[in-house]
Amino acid sequence: MTDELTLIHKQIQACQRCVLAGFPIQGPPIFSGNVHARLMVIGQAPGRVEVNETHRPFSGSAGKRLFSWFQQVGWDEKTFRQTFYMTSVTKCFPGPNRSGRGDRAPTRKEQRLCEEWLLAEIVLVDPEVVVPVGKLAIERFLGRGRKLVEIIGGRYQIDGRIVIPLPHPSGASAWIQVQAHRVLIRRALQQLAIVKEELGL
Ligand code: SF4
Repeated sequence: MTDELTLIHKQIQACQRCVLAGFPIQGPPIFSGNVHARLMVIGQAPGRVEVNETHRPFSGSAGKRLFSWFQQVGWDEKTFRQTFYMTSVTKCFPGPNRSGRGDRAPTRKEQRLCEEWLLAEIVLVDPEVVVPVGKLAIERFLGRGRKLVEIIGGRYQIDGRIVIPLPHPSGASAWIQVQAHRVLIRRALQQLAIVKEELGL
């Protein structure tokens, strides 16, 4: 499995699909983690800090908030990064959005172009628990058309894995600023704490 994942990582690192399709993405592709991880976090796409500076997932301001949530569950960042696997729906930075204040969400076509890599990561790592972070990653597991308020705080069993979604932790996200939504986030973290205890993660 380690060799197969290493091969997939090399293929992802060499991937030019979105560039060849004319999308203004910026590499390198970002992912990290342990092939034996029992939990996988899947975000939307890396941001400029991840791509330009750190080369590891969730290391910008959104990542700081995400790890503050995980700290409440009982995972410190260093151990979490070493123990679990972190990736995203699309692995390259999509660039800024029109306003220039945030990042562009990857298009459906970019998501489809990158889907093979995400599927390969899930199959090879084979996590017991998946934490999709943000709408695009959540849709990948729970389908389109449902509101976050109907989803966040829940625990789902999908394709034999426990799925516990979290909203995007970006400071630009209005959703997480709403008090009623924060209650849902607390519920989601409680779900994670229960799973942590149940599975000894
Ligand atoms: S986002 Fe995915 S499919 Fe697109 S170039 Fe990067 S690795 Fe390839």
